[in-house]
Amino acid sequence: MKIAILSRNKNLYSTRRLVEAAEEREHEVRVLDTLRCYMDIATDKPGINYRGERLEHFDAVIPRIGASITAYGLAVLRQFEMMGTFPLSESVAIGRSRDKLRSLQLLSRKGIGLPLSSFAHHVDNTRDLINLVGGPPVVVKLLEGTQGKGVVLAETFKAAESVIDAFRELGADFLVQEFIKEAGGSDVRCLVIGNKVVAAMERKAKEGEFRSNLHRGGTASLTKLTPQERATAIKAAKTMGLNVAGVDILRSGHGPLVMEVNSSPGLEGIENATHKNVAGMIINYIEENAKPNRTRTRGKG
Ligand code: ADP
Ligand code: MG
Repeated sequence: MKIAILSRNKNLYSTRRLVEAAEEREHEVRVLDTLRCYMDIATDKPGINYRGERLEHFDAVIPRIGASITAYGLAVLRQFEMMGTFPLSESVAIGRSRDKLRSLQLLSRKGIGLPLSSFAHHVDNTRDLINLVGGPPVVVKLLEGTQGKGVVLAETFKAAESVIDAFRELGADFLVQEFIKEAGGSDVRCLVIGNKVVAAMERKAKEGEFRSNLHRGGTASLTKLTPQERATAIKAAKTMGLNVAGVDILRSGHGPLVMEVNSSPGLEGIENATHKNVAGMIINYIEENAKPNRTRTRGKG
């Protein structure tokens, strides 16, 4: 098969591993810098150009689109979809997952356990927003943050109100969430491929920190999932429409709560913690599922 990987940097761990895994299985693989792809939309034969060259047809495309280039990256991915290339995950699904509020709304529709969350653009009474999730301590988070940036723990009304005022002043969209204290600074990353959890790790925040992101100094270790956690992760990925997803779960006193569903989960942490060949399993999934024009949405709404 001919496989394209959309990635800004071919030296990143995840990109390198996917290239390796594809080559091991004798596929032709090419890393394309997402921002260097350009396209003409007006012709009846959609195509993509790359550094002055018209790209040949690819059977499958693996999007690794960073949060900072979501809009352009998804436009490129949509173009691949219009050309009949099989996307590992569809542009529409990735678009959903990039908006934390939209994600939570979709997940709640399906009855998936979530931390209580509230959202407002303008409220006269910020206290109401905080009370809606049970009062302090609360977590206030930007809707489009990643790697723990823009996630703040506010222990008192006063602290929560100040953070909310500051985010408002900056014109940033945010949500307020109940703080799941029992999780103890840990969460579980479940790597879902198709309808299976193929690997899982527990991430623990470093001393004095509540955010377990590996980018914030968190550490990862193996963990065994309960059947309920496994079922929750699979249902969450399916609800978002993602074929590959990193589902983050908080272990609360009342069962697993989904915090977020990542559409471009990093492979380094999970492969190192579990010694599993996740990149190989992703290529396997493509081998089993990539058929021309097999996209449910092809970039539609
Ligand atoms: P990001 O997209 O920036 O990773 P997250 O929503 O995943 O943002 O939050 C980052 C980290 O903060 C999580 O991995 C978790 O450890 C912690 N965290 C986030 N929300 C909560 C919450 N409601 N209760 C307890 N811990 C939380
Ligand atoms: Mg996260």
